[in-house]
Amino acid sequence: AQERYASIRDKRAETRCGTIVGLQMNAGLMADLPSLEGSGAEGVGLFRTELQFLIRSKMPKRSELSALYARVLDAASGKRVVFRTLDIGSDKVLPYMKANDEPNPALGWRAIRVGLDKPGIMRMQLQALIRAANGRPLTVMFPFVAQFEEYRAARAEMDKTLAREARLGHVLPSHLEVGAMLETPSLAFAPKKFFEEVEFLSIGGNDLKQFFFAADRENELVRRRYDTLNASFLTFLEGIVARCRETGTPLSFCGEDAGRPVEALCFAAIGITNLSMRPASIGPVKNLLRRSNLDEVRQVINEARDRGDQSVRPAVMDYLRHQTP
Ligand code: PEP
Ligand code: MG
Repeated sequence: AQERYASIRDKRAETRCGTIVGLQMNAGLMADLPSLEGSGAEGVGLFRTELQFLIRSKMPKRSELSALYARVLDAASGKRVVFRTLDIGSDKVLPYMKANDEPNPALGWRAIRVGLDKPGIMRMQLQALIRAANGRPLTVMFPFVAQFEEYRAARAEMDKTLAREARLGHVLPSHLEVGAMLETPSLAFAPKKFFEEVEFLSIGGNDLKQFFFAADRENELVRRRYDTLNASFLTFLEGIVARCRETGTPLSFCGEDAGRPVEALCFAAIGITNLSMRPASIGPVKNLLRRSNLDEVRQVINEARDRGDQSVRPAVMDYLRHQTP
């Protein structure tokens, strides 16, 4: 499939109306890294660090992690890599950590909640990241932040870790960016101050959608019941775009839906112009974006919504079918 899009691999995802959409890739294993070249990704928009923890039978050591993250940064050769801190719990359970018997793991003790309650693991990971950067730029993102205070607490851990690393004589990153994933509807309504303080936000659409519709992403009976292009969901996403614009907060989308061309097109049309997806999706998404006029797509979306369509998908598909190639 990548050969099919080879001719546009080194071209930007510039739409017919002149908007440039940033396309990054999602990764988590060393095996993903060669795709950074082959896919034409501009960077790694989501590096799922928990995968390295999940494939082991015991807790990795700080030195092992640091060596691994350094290899990721080497492979990226200067392209931005967004390291997401451990996102465990719910569907991702570490075999060597005592499992909690939770009635609703998706709503349970997971991700940043574990990180803040058991700061030892998070500190170890932050140290490993700082040492891996070793004077290079570093980008860190906290998963599943549901309220401002959680971001503040995680950010404080980061600042404490930086100070400790400096005292120990380690070289600090030349530039540090600390952001959060927006995966719970609550964070979309956080105070304006949060949007000002957080350095960037990335919408975790897989989780955000599951909580928006109260539909388990793992449950076959309901997981496809609500369309991502549902008019209400798009209106909700537009609200996030508006808040980020107001405060100048960089916004991206890194859930699986970003890799579906029609979804990606609609996200770009409502103003989410940074998308991170599996490497194989970059070609198809870029191809559609380059042929599209976002102003027209936005109009099609608005008309469908005004008509009361449940999903804007039929209208957008119809529009695309009548496009000149
Ligand atoms: C998401 O929730 O959309 C996301 C990118 O994180 P994960 O799929 O790893 O939960
Ligand atoms: Mg998630």
